[in-house]
Amino acid sequence: MSMTTLINPANETVLREVPQTPKDEVDAAISRAVLAQRGWAALAPADRAAALRRFAAAVDGAIEELAMLEVTNSGHPLGQARWEAGHVRDVLQYYSAAPERMIGQQIPVAGGVDITFLEPLGVVGIIVPWNYPMTIAAWGFAPALAAGNAVVLKPAEWTPLTAMRLGELALESGLPENLFQVLPGKGSVVGDRFVTHESVRKIVFTGSTEVGRQVMAGAAAQVKPVTLELGGKSANIVFADSDLEKAAVTAPYAVFDNAGQDCTARSRILVERSVFDRFLELMEPSVKGMKVGQPTAEGTEVGPLVHKNHFDSVSSFLDDEARVAYRGSAPEGPGYFFAPTVLIPESRTDRRVTDEIFGPIVSVLPFDDEADAIALANSTEYGLSGSLWTRDVSRAIRVARAYETGTLSVNSHSSVRYSTPFGGVKQSGLGRELGPDAAEAFTETKNVFISTD
Ligand code: NAD
Repeated sequence: MSMTTLINPANETVLREVPQTPKDEVDAAISRAVLAQRGWAALAPADRAAALRRFAAAVDGAIEELAMLEVTNSGHPLGQARWEAGHVRDVLQYYSAAPERMIGQQIPVAGGVDITFLEPLGVVGIIVPWNYPMTIAAWGFAPALAAGNAVVLKPAEWTPLTAMRLGELALESGLPENLFQVLPGKGSVVGDRFVTHESVRKIVFTGSTEVGRQVMAGAAAQVKPVTLELGGKSANIVFADSDLEKAAVTAPYAVFDNAGQDCTARSRILVERSVFDRFLELMEPSVKGMKVGQPTAEGTEVGPLVHKNHFDSVSSFLDDEARVAYRGSAPEGPGYFFAPTVLIPESRTDRRVTDEIFGPIVSVLPFDDEADAIALANSTEYGLSGSLWTRDVSRAIRVARAYETGTLSVNSHSSVRYSTPFGGVKQSGLGRELGPDAAEAFTETKNVFISTD
């Protein structure tokens, strides 16, 4: 069996080997999931809800263990990793309320009664990227299970450990066997098989726009629904009338958190020309003060990049043409540490302005007026997230409506909450995760007419 060698990105030592699931085992797992789903869907909604609450409790009891796995496998700072594990618990708890609230409609029609049922889809395939291995997995599996589906989940090759442990915790908490199976391995084998297997009835894919396109094309062959959460190049728009200090001091956290490996990273900061220099001045201490270091050390805010290949990819954007305003600091290594970097590109078409770098590099650009800010914010194929800063409430609403993006915050950098919908427009994705309607997205509405004649 082929193996994946996992490396601790904070010290470059080998962590362990993980077997890659071969195609025939993926098929066998999907067949087992089909059977497990039938029993799960037949349970009373209250029993499914209780099972999900027990799963949440098992995750709660393993916060420290899950966090340490993420620290060593992904390089996330310990405090952040603890938050992520707690978030998985919270997402499970939130969707444990769904089974008892998934109700249909009764529609008045001539000659009878029409009623609808929200039927589970069957087996759902979830494909996860490496940047937030457990939280993104939970955004898919918690509502999918709540709606009465079975789940097969493929973690990213570099970061499978927390998802594998969550699969064990599901079993330990009493979830039926084969209902939630985690299958580590290659995208081109395991992920692709989810797409091509007829018994997998929906794909939830989070990852790059390039692979997302392939997944969507493959799913089209079976008219299989997909949710796509893809890349981003989000803008943080700062108007001259805003609380400039607050905008500047917080901006680095909106892009450098998780070492910039965040689909919602506000990696373009657009600043009204009259306050451009002042904004850069105000942001400098905050960038230079960010604590980049060992993920286990107290107070570390930013850990290493996830992998040597990714470190090389991010580094390639800092060539001779990159106009660096200033940089923070990072340990020398070993470990794939990268100092937070602020660029002031001359051109709006510079590749650092247009491409998703997915690392701690931000471009700061001036704009002239509201129309120019909107045009610049929208001049990207992506549309996932964004922030805007102004004290003018009318302008805040105007710009929020005009900015082509799925998620936006005003005078804040908040982007993801489990109780509100999340997802992108344009080439950042299709469909929404999270929020009160997410479990229903894992059902089909069945319409039944009952004649009274
Ligand atoms: P990726 O597209 O390379 O891989 C994502 C997942 O898809 C992995 O599990 C991979 O093994 C699998 N995969 C690869 N080829 C496949 C195929 N042919 N068929 C099926 N599955 C396949 O992305 P990545 O490098 O792991 O993650 C980074 C990207 O994810 C960035 O572009 C980032 O913006 C995006 N992302 C988006 C969101 C969002 O919510 N919109 C969240 C996190 C990350």
